[in-house]
Amino acid sequence: MKSLLVLSHCILNTASKVMQDERELAEEYQIRDLLLQLILRKNIQILQLPCPEFVLYGSQRWGHVKNQFQHPYFEKASKEMLEPILLQLEEYDRHPESFSVLGIVSVEGSPSCGYHHTCIGEWKGEIGTDPAHISQIQGSLRMSSKPGVFMELLKEELEAHKLSIPILTMEETIELLK
Ligand code: SF4
Repeated sequence: MKSLLVLSHCILNTASKVMQDERELAEEYQIRDLLLQLILRKNIQILQLPCPEFVLYGSQRWGHVKNQFQHPYFEKASKEMLEPILLQLEEYDRHPESFSVLGIVSVEGSPSCGYHHTCIGEWKGEIGTDPAHISQIQGSLRMSSKPGVFMELLKEELEAHKLSIPILTMEETIELLK
């Protein structure tokens, strides 16, 4: 029997993330290290989801909020990216005697791949140079307890494909593997 996990892309490849001061990611990277060590130690196999933001907007993109990705083009492209993964998951699901997919691992806070925490806000249009306007845009940023656009679609697609696979945070996955 082989056990598998499906990881959000940047858990394996941090070069896909929005460029930023990585010291702000110290806590996330600590959890990531622990998770990856456990995955190797427990001999868990890994499927990697695509990174929708890197594929659609490249490495030089700004950070976004969920509202900016809630449009038909992002959703259509995301569905196309997910299709090959869903087919692989269907195949594993047909052979439960040989394979067990333990879960899909989110990246909390992301407007795309968060599951319990997703950043939302009124970010749009020209930023300009007026400090009051910039601060108004920044001030609208907040966390929602709903999934990001990519995870939301993935959840819908799992249901449509009759696949019962939990979506887990990195912390939840660590607990599961311990
Ligand atoms: S879109 Fe998802 S995979 Fe890509 S950097 Fe953001 S959280 Fe990671």
